[in-house]
Amino acid sequence: MNDKNQISNISEILRENGISPSLQRIQVYKYLLENHTHPNVDTIYKDLVHIIPTLSKTTVYNTLKLFQSKGLVSVLTIDENEARFDINTHIHGHFKCINCNKIFDFDVESIKIDPKIEKENKIIDEQFYIKGFCKECLENEEI
Ligand SMILES: [Zn+2]
Ligand SMILES: [Zn+2]
Repeated sequence: MNDKNQISNISEILRENGISPSLQRIQVYKYLLENHTHPNVDTIYKDLVHIIPTLSKTTVYNTLKLFQSKGLVSVLTIDENEARFDINTHIHGHFKCINCNKIFDFDVESIKIDPKIEKENKIIDEQFYIKGFCKECLENEEI
């Protein structure tokens, strides 16, 4: 997909979700589509400020909060100190390397939740986390 097509597709997705597609919003969404690294606000800001010099961290943060409220991104709280954002809102697990801070996805067949809990309560967020040392760190013997 060329850039122009992609941008008009993103505009369409944002509009369908009741978000007016400003340049900043489009670029943040595009960044998340292209970077499945579960970035935090700082990383997104640092990578995009070259493209959008008027961008601020607050704008990035507010944009992500807006996307979250519309169900377009999910927020990972795997890290105690920072929120990391994920454009993949389908249920999947996350592995976090406690050495290099990388977070990657893995498929989960299904998480069996006690039906009583589901029936009596309203679940709004499900997270499945594993922490450890990633393959690369183990191979590089950095640990
Ligand atoms: Zn690692
Ligand atoms: Zn993910």
